[in-house]
Amino acid sequence: MMPEVLVEINDLVINFYTYRGVVKAINGVNLKINKGEFFGLVGETGCGKSVTGSAILNLVQNPGRIESGEVIFKGDDILRMDEGEIRERIRGKEITMIMQHPIAALNPVLKNGDQIAEALGKKMSDSEAKKRTIELLKEVNIPEPEKVANQYPHQLSGGMAQRVMIAMMLATEPSLLIADEPTTALDVSIQAQVLSLLEDLIKRHKATVLLITHDLSVVAETCDRVGVMYAGDMAEVGDVEQIIGNPRHPYTTGLMRAIPSDHENELVGIRGSVPDLVNPPTGCRFHPRCEYATKICKEKKPETIQVESNHTVACFLYEGEKGG
Ligand code: SF4
Repeated sequence: MMPEVLVEINDLVINFYTYRGVVKAINGVNLKINKGEFFGLVGETGCGKSVTGSAILNLVQNPGRIESGEVIFKGDDILRMDEGEIRERIRGKEITMIMQHPIAALNPVLKNGDQIAEALGKKMSDSEAKKRTIELLKEVNIPEPEKVANQYPHQLSGGMAQRVMIAMMLATEPSLLIADEPTTALDVSIQAQVLSLLEDLIKRHKATVLLITHDLSVVAETCDRVGVMYAGDMAEVGDVEQIIGNPRHPYTTGLMRAIPSDHENELVGIRGSVPDLVNPPTGCRFHPRCEYATKICKEKKPETIQVESNHTVACFLYEGEKGG
């Protein structure tokens, strides 16, 4: 059975207008996220994965500008909606976002329970909202939920605050949950707990997740499908087994060689460094670092080629596999 597409990003181009010049951050990205899947968007800092996530909510911050492209969600282009409609229908409703620093993302002057009750909306009476808030806090494995509901965000540890944040996101029963580096700021011992909680809840609530991370090992453990971004381009997309077990793009192969590494910006397996996107390399943006680069790689941007079912790669090495 063909999976149902929930979000479709087409030809997305985003630039940032900085004092150094125009940063060509997103270079015509295409991506489909299917209903019910745990999709991981992975790449180094500055590759454009977080900006792509923000674009889904039309939340690209100044000096960033979405130049062209579309984000189709349930038949409508979010980028063509007016701000009122996005607030009414999409942001914090159909699509919610979990941030890297939960304590900063929570409202400091509202008690944790009141924030969750607020997210539940006005459809419930106060007593129903209170009951549902406690249920949600239990669902995210918070011990003593009544006590936590009466506390303020600053009284929580990072791990507990992230659980409150997840409870708040679940309150709206979103169709898509975007989790941008949700565990990076947490202790290593808590990271795995939060990820498996997220995985479990998503299955139970039949939601779809877009997990944005620099950590390929996190993706390997939690995701169904993976998109690998490099310097504003989508290099490779496939099922997690294909990406981890049979990576085809030279950049993904390099990333795989770099695991395990604690230094996200010092990839052991890849020579050279991430390019400055004010003056990105011509053609394939990976060419200065690629051991297979040929003349055409410097001249033309590679098309996306399907190399096997559900597996696409943007690289000239697979030109011969086009259409077959
Ligand atoms: Fe390397 Fe060329 Fe493929 Fe780019 S298109 S990854 S430079 S072989």
